Amino acid sequence: MQSSKTAPFYIKTKRTFTGIRAYGWILTLLVGVGGQFFPVLGLLVPPIMLTLIGMSTLKGKYWCGNYCPHGSFFDSLLQPVSRNIKIPSLFASRFFISAVLIFFMYNLARRFTTITGAAGTADLLNQAGLVFSTTYLMVLLVGGLLAVTISPRTWCRFCPMGTFQFIFYKLGKVIKVNKKSDRKITSVQPALCRSCGKCARVCPLQLSPYTSFGNNNQFEDENCIRCNTCIRNCPPGILQPATAKEAEKLEPGAALESFSEDRFTQPR
Ligand code: SF4
Ligand code: SF4
Repeated sequence: MQSSKTAPFYIKTKRTFTGIRAYGWILTLLVGVGGQFFPVLGLLVPPIMLTLIGMSTLKGKYWCGNYCPHGSFFDSLLQPVSRNIKIPSLFASRFFISAVLIFFMYNLARRFTTITGAAGTADLLNQAGLVFSTTYLMVLLVGGLLAVTISPRTWCRFCPMGTFQFIFYKLGKVIKVNKKSDRKITSVQPALCRSCGKCARVCPLQLSPYTSFGNNNQFEDENCIRCNTCIRNCPPGILQPATAKEAEKLEPGAALESFSEDRFTQPR
């Protein structure tokens, strides 16, 4: 007898393909929790922010998918206990993303105004560190709660750091500095796509590459965090990262001999 329950659309799958993605969460705990006791640890946050913003002008949200310590915390530690259900569309709306960014900036500015009294004293660095550490801890708690109750990367749909990257990526496009470094998910053999939807089912951000390939069969969605989870899970193995120039050179003919390498038919 068939069960009345339908299979969930989103699938939990390994996303931690590198040591940094598997263990970056240690830094999150160190800064967010350790910083409450040793506030100077919070001073690691500004260089992290500058790095992710600089990287985003060249590679979009690559930081989020490959280096973010919070992302590692969500994927590595919380994915196994996450309900992994659909992220409410409100969290991806421009209104919500803007509101969170404004609240974040306001809150950070407000907290910094409270430490101006320490200006010129040795305690200033400690107090500034505590502000950053507490912000890190807040993301750990709120993002962690959303990760367990909804989906591991729910926070990432509206994270203020992600929004900064979005803005600076657009800037990078305008000033044309990322043509050689921006590698998007690309279908190298569109004719072999089965429309199975697995790339969408495993995507941490719940994006849908296979329904949205644009110019040169590239996935243009600026929310893509370049995590390569879709690449690793595409059954015929037709996805790969490529710059626009590399994608232009690909000739997506009907190379049917690729079927012999189809992962559906190969033993795992
Ligand atoms: S996982 Fe691969 S084959 Fe399946 S829909 Fe996505 S691109 Fe097509
Ligand atoms: S589309 Fe692919 S690379 Fe982009 S976020 Fe989704 S799974 Fe990661």
